[in-house]
Amino acid sequence: MAAQTHLFPCLSDNYGVLLHDPETGATASIDAPEAAAVEKALARTGWKLTDILVTHHHADHTDGIMALKNKYKCRVVAPAGEAAKIPGVDETVREGSKVKVGNLTGNVIETPGHTLGHIAYWFHANNLAFVGDTLFSIGCGRVIEGTMDQMWDSLKKLRDLPDNTLIYCGHEYTAANIKFALSVDPNNRELQARDAETKKQLAAKEPTIPTTIGDEKLANPFLRADAADLANNIGMAGKPAHEVFAEIRLRKNKF
Ligand SMILES: [Zn+2]
Repeated sequence: MAAQTHLFPCLSDNYGVLLHDPETGATASIDAPEAAAVEKALARTGWKLTDILVTHHHADHTDGIMALKNKYKCRVVAPAGEAAKIPGVDETVREGSKVKVGNLTGNVIETPGHTLGHIAYWFHANNLAFVGDTLFSIGCGRVIEGTMDQMWDSLKKLRDLPDNTLIYCGHEYTAANIKFALSVDPNNRELQARDAETKKQLAAKEPTIPTTIGDEKLANPFLRADAADLANNIGMAGKPAHEVFAEIRLRKNKF
């Protein structure tokens, strides 16, 4: 079953994205950072909002929910672990839950770390994953509520998705992420290539999203915490991957 997506910038550096099923006309907004920006995207595409799929409770992902729900009477799906912090929730989901958007089917993957109840939506048949603030292009979210070990485990779950999975994340952070990544992984040719590609995209005012799991596995240092050369680069040769991950994440916080 074909799916269509429409990506649009909102707030200062957030991304909104619409997922559309052309067979049924169903359309989901992944998170709702800003009602006006979602409405503009709906007007541009001519799609009618039927669902909001929430990844986590942060305000820059949920502030637009009630205005959109009141206008479109759409269903709001949210992680069970954070439903109490999210307005207008109709349906809660957890690891292994399936979410339908028209005839499209998404699998819920729990990815705690950035927040404790954070989830991703993986539309397997369409090679699409909406990962909120867990995985970014050449980066990962800040570990705010969970532990470093939880975040590393969550990133490994996403890394296990098929290489051709398109990854839609919540923010345009790629350029800053690459600058940091080069500080811990300077000799990585794939990362150097992404640096050049990203500079071109941003100069042309194009988004650097979506990325793919296959590309991230090669160049994202947070997915390479168990790669011997990266551990070696930061003086942690032979250390367990979760410790290497924690060190990289701490260095990024201070970068
Ligand atoms: Zn967040």
